[in-house]
Amino acid sequence: MISNITAMRNVKSLKDIDVIGKRVLIRVDFNVPVDSHHNISDDRRIRAALPTINYCIDHNACSITLVSHFGRPGGKYDEKYSLKNIVKRLERLLQKQVVFVEDFENSRDEIAACSLERVFLLENIRFHEGEKKNDPELSKKLASICDIYVNDAFGAAHRKHASTYGVMEYVETKVAGFLMMKEIEAFRKALENPVRPIALVIGGAKVSSKITLLKNVLKKIDKLIIGGAMSNTFLTALGYDMQQSLYEEKYIETAGEVMEEAKHNGVKIYLPVDLVITDSVESPVDVRVVPSQDVLDGFQAVDIGPATVKLFSEAIGLSNTIIWNGPMGIYEIDRFSKGTYKIANAIADCYAYTFVGGGDTADAVDRAGEADNFSFISTGGGASLELLEGKILPGFANLDRKEEEL
Ligand code: ADP
Ligand code: MG
Repeated sequence: MISNITAMRNVKSLKDIDVIGKRVLIRVDFNVPVDSHHNISDDRRIRAALPTINYCIDHNACSITLVSHFGRPGGKYDEKYSLKNIVKRLERLLQKQVVFVEDFENSRDEIAACSLERVFLLENIRFHEGEKKNDPELSKKLASICDIYVNDAFGAAHRKHASTYGVMEYVETKVAGFLMMKEIEAFRKALENPVRPIALVIGGAKVSSKITLLKNVLKKIDKLIIGGAMSNTFLTALGYDMQQSLYEEKYIETAGEVMEEAKHNGVKIYLPVDLVITDSVESPVDVRVVPSQDVLDGFQAVDIGPATVKLFSEAIGLSNTIIWNGPMGIYEIDRFSKGTYKIANAIADCYAYTFVGGGDTADAVDRAGEADNFSFISTGGGASLELLEGKILPGFANLDRKEEEL
C-alpha cells in the first residue's frame, strides 16, 4: 500500500545540504482559513513552516524568500487574496521583520543582498497566470532568485504548478523542508499497516478536485462516509432534487460511478439521511431539518442532520483507522456547524488511528476543541487523499534523492 511513500521518503531534506551563504527559496503553504475581515482563523499552516524557515536562519543562509499561494484568484491581482494580510502574523511568529515583495522580478537585487535580519515574502504566486499552468517562464524567473529551492508546501504537494513543481527543473539543488518530511512520515505510519476496517470520511466543497480520486481510493478502504457539499452531488445522482444546494452538475455521473464501483469492491457507502436546510446562508429566516430527499423548493442543504450524525458516528465507532477530509457543512457559521463538530467528537472518541487532513477540516477540529485528540492532523487535504490513492506527489517527484530511484 505504501510503495509510493517509500519512494517519497527517499528525497533529500534541508538537513542533507549546506545553506550557508545561499539564497534560499522556500515554497510554503500559507493558504490559511480567514474570516470575512481577513482575520486568520487558524494559523497552523504558518506555524508548521517555522522549523524550516528558522533552520535556514540559524544556518546562515544568505537570504530567505517565501513563496505561497492563497485562495483561488484566477491568475490575476485581487486584493482579497493578497498575502499582505498575513505579514503581521508571520512577523510575530518568526520574531523577524518580513519584507513583503509585490513584484519579485524587480526585487532580485534586494533579495540577492545578504541579510538575515529580514525574510522576504512574495505576493500570492497565483496572481501570475503562469503559476497554475506550470509555465516555464515563471518557473525560470523563480529559479533566478535562488540557489536552493526548498519545498515545504505539503498542502500543495499534489499540484503541478510553477512554484511547486516546474521551478525544480531550473534549480540545481532542491530539497524537502521539515514539514514535508514530517507529513510523509506520519502517512507512512498510518498506511504501512492500517488496522481494518478503514473508514474515509469525506465532505467539504472542493468536489471537482476530490471526487475523481475517490474511485481509486475505494480499493484501499472499507467504508466511505460522505457529507458536506460533496454529498449533495451524490444525492443528486440518486435522483434527489437538491434545489439550491451546492452541487456539481458536471460530476453527477462520476458520483454514480463511484457508488457502482463501491458496490463492486464491497465498500459500504454512507450518505446523509437527513439534512439541515435554510432559505438563505447569509440571513436565514427559515432553518429546518428534513429527510435528504425532501429539500424544499428554494432551500439549500448546509449541514448534516441529527439522524445522519447518529448513522455516521456508529459507522465511525466501528472502524479502526479513520481518515477525514472535508467539513460536513458550512461550519464557519455557528448555526450550521453542529454536524461537523459532532463528527469531530465522534472521530476523536474512537479507539482508532485517527487522521485528519485539509485546511478547513483542521480548523474545524480545532474549533471543536478536539485538536489534541486526533492521532495526526495533516496540513494537506487533497494531498493526503492522493497519497492514499497511491500516487507520488509532484511536489516530491523532482526533488534531489538520497540514492538512485528504488
Ligand atoms: P478542506 O480545506 O478541509 O480540504 P474544503 O476546502 O474542500 O475542505 O471544504 C471546506 C468548505 O466546504 C468550507 O468552507 C465549508 O463551508 C464548505 N461546505 C461544506 N459543506 C457545505 C455545504 N453543504 N454547502 C456549501 N458549502 C459547504
Ligand atoms: Mg479548504
